Amino acid sequence: MAKPLGMADTISRRTLLAAAGAAGLAPLSFSQSAQRAPHKGMPVAISSANGMRTTEKAMELLRAGQDGLDAAIAGVNIVEEDPNDMSVGYGGLPNERGVVELDSCCMHGPTYRAGAVASLRNIKTPSRVAKVVMERTDHVLLVGEGALEFARMHGFEETNLLTEAARKAWVKWKESLSKDDDYLEPPAASPLPARPTGTITCLTLNDKSEISGVTTTSGLAYKIPGRVGDSPIIGAGLYVDNQIGACGSTGRGEAVILSCGSRIVVENMRHGMTPEEACLDVLKRICDYTVDPLLLREKGRPNFEVNFYAVNKKGEFGGARIYRGGRYAVHDGTQNRLMDSAYLY
Ligand code: ASP
Repeated sequence: MAKPLGMADTISRRTLLAAAGAAGLAPLSFSQSAQRAPHKGMPVAISSANGMRTTEKAMELLRAGQDGLDAAIAGVNIVEEDPNDMSVGYGGLPNERGVVELDSCCMHGPTYRAGAVASLRNIKTPSRVAKVVMERTDHVLLVGEGALEFARMHGFEETNLLTEAARKAWVKWKESLSKDDDYLEPPAASPLPARPTGTITCLTLNDKSEISGVTTTSGLAYKIPGRVGDSPIIGAGLYVDNQIGACGSTGRGEAVILSCGSRIVVENMRHGMTPEEACLDVLKRICDYTVDPLLLREKGRPNFEVNFYAVNKKGEFGGARIYRGGRYAVHDGTQNRLMDSAYLY
């Protein structure tokens, strides 16, 4: 299991890195503490905790010699198409008007290309549309009606993404919003669960040390129509640098956008941090910069969660989040398992 790094540990390592930089020394490496694939050159697939089937599938395809991005996308497609995961794709929780709007981006390390779609309706697998944006346009991001037209143009089938379970959850949320509107309260026997969050990311490293990644989500449940989180934003919900490593995120998208989270995690790895240290450093910055009282709970800590997942070119990987209790899925070439995420608090 990943060893939780305490904050003091992170800070002292950061201080060391800064001191080394100021003295003009080569960046320090802390790779000794990193989780890694058992053998050099062994492929790795890492995903969020809802991605055990994703890492299994991605590894199967990596072993069969498929491109790393195709492997990652095939892995997340399983969850996008699964109505029981209400945070991704088909069956995802809708926006405040009851319409499911999906966000996704992907990045292909070897060719340094990316594609993304945001606020896409009616298509179960936005990750695949993101890849077609990458392959068939000179753009990176298409949104809303334009993204849907583009998907139609490329033969994607349209479906009503709102399942009965998601519709019922939305109705319950809507009826619970206010005592002053004309909707009657839902039956008291069924308390409203906390506003659900979720997303899936998958990063792959193949046996040629090529890195790719994808992130896909239905976004924040009951969001304002048109709201876009971090998941389709290159540099926020995903970043891949084929020379260094990759990072993907889940959790409060606004915090990840503001911190340019995944990009900074990759930059941290460039400067010598292990994947886990790189993730913890950005989480620490997010906590330090969160000062809005609406976003704080006791001890001045954020009242939200952010998770980062990262892999580097050497096959080292890690996951971290703000609060204890997170996990991530990883297939390291020998076994597929859930690992404990490192944490700040
Ligand atoms: N990151 C996603 C978003 O903000 C949601 C999540 O991962 O829970 O849209």
